Amino acid sequence: MPRVQILGIPHDENSSFLKGAALAPPKIRAELFSSAYNMWTEAGVNLGDKEALEDAGDLTFGGAQDPWELIKSSVLDLIRTGDRVICLGGDHAITHPIVRAFAEKNSKLGILHFDAHPDIYHDFENNPRSHASPFARIMEERLAARLVQVGIRTATGHQREQWSRFNVEAIEMRQLREVPKIRFDMPVYISLDIDALDPAYAPGVSHREPGGMSPRQVIDIIQSLQDPIAGADIVEYNPARDVSDVTATVAAKFLKEIAARMI
Ligand code: MN
Ligand code: MN
Repeated sequence: MPRVQILGIPHDENSSFLKGAALAPPKIRAELFSSAYNMWTEAGVNLGDKEALEDAGDLTFGGAQDPWELIKSSVLDLIRTGDRVICLGGDHAITHPIVRAFAEKNSKLGILHFDAHPDIYHDFENNPRSHASPFARIMEERLAARLVQVGIRTATGHQREQWSRFNVEAIEMRQLREVPKIRFDMPVYISLDIDALDPAYAPGVSHREPGGMSPRQVIDIIQSLQDPIAGADIVEYNPARDVSDVTATVAAKFLKEIAARMI
């Protein structure tokens, strides 16, 4: 049985509008391990089992090492053992170095990306590491064989051109009615930006975009996946914008249901 490691990556230096996502990992953990809930997932996996889930702690930034190198090497250290990893952001910029690690371990990798935004700007405010650009960098470096984006409702003309350039498969929010049947036929990395959700369910994000997904829709898609889940991230939860920790609760719920699919 693969073990799931939780790694906190409290980094939000590349957020374009508001900082705060770096404060997320302890808030999500507090909800995950709160005695208000049990540790069983919907499909009957007990994450309270010591063999199932392990907390790898948070990375510490500020030393001499480039943060992108630190993130990549830390993730690689965890996945080398065969463990699965769920990274807690941080803003969405961190997905680039995380996926660099997964691409090194998996010769073919598919990415399922939930987001209100395509995050595929070639150049956003002259910051190649912007949280608006991780999927441009990932596709330029050919780290993913397929990129499927779900929940998008902010695509600009430029980002639509980027979709064509990189053969991105976008399931935009205006098209999303039933649970889409997504088959990758390769290991899948799930990148879950909390702002994919409607802000009514998840106000604790830096960029609130109405007309979004329900938590149930996200969970249904995760549970419908048939391919092995190599790893995942849950990013862009911003506690400074949250109301009564409801967004932390949703993030913890997603963590549980992703972990259940990994085990
Ligand atoms: Mn994003
Ligand atoms: Mn977003």
